Amino acid sequence: MAKQIVMLGPPGAGKGTQAKVLSEKLGIPHVSSGDIFRENMREQTELGKNAALYINRGELVPDDVTIAMISERISRIDCDEGVVLDGFPRTATQAEALDEMLGDLNKGQVDAVPCVDVPNDVLIDRLTGRRTCRAEGHIFHIMFKPPQEAGKCDIDGSELYQREDDTVSTVSNRIDVYQKQTQPLIDYYQQQGVLLEINGDQPIEAVLDEIMTALSGV
Ligand code: AMP
Repeated sequence: MAKQIVMLGPPGAGKGTQAKVLSEKLGIPHVSSGDIFRENMREQTELGKNAALYINRGELVPDDVTIAMISERISRIDCDEGVVLDGFPRTATQAEALDEMLGDLNKGQVDAVPCVDVPNDVLIDRLTGRRTCRAEGHIFHIMFKPPQEAGKCDIDGSELYQREDDTVSTVSNRIDVYQKQTQPLIDYYQQQGVLLEINGDQPIEAVLDEIMTALSGV
């Protein structure tokens, strides 16, 4: 089965959730550019402070910074058998850089790109109601998946917070940015014959089944 996997889809499509499960099922790491940025923001590293300037406005972090970060991550030994990339690439320049990285590391090329699609109005509801756990990033939703105790993670008891970029104004900017900068990657991967179109507007399990079925044909 395909091992260099790129999850594509707008913010709020659920690609992070799917990428996590997929990585467990396939036994390869889940590498989320957003998670790495947030970890650096929490630890207040130089990278984190720089990235926060863009992330909190719903804009993309510059390509050179993002590419260097992912290149370092996927060259680590745990990615030898493959990787599930989530949130990267997001621009044409990043997609080209990824092809180059995989070539340099003798890992061939991107094998499969599940693209999880969800209508815009659903995305806005999902993102603005999303609450994230401070400790581990577990995801809840005030309407669709409320925690048992308000503001507290069911899994580890840590505080649930609203990501600064999940507020109404930032969310619409993130969706615009996706349409302008990331949507062109759908064509890029379609031309390479690796795009797998997935309906993300259905229950999590059903989305996962669709992805697994599509991947088994690759
Ligand atoms: P995410 O968790 O994937 O929604 O990412 C959160 C934010 O991190 C995005 O809105 C961007 O500001 C930044 N980010 C994540 N991945 C990338 C990327 N590949 N290129 C540029 N910025 C990114």
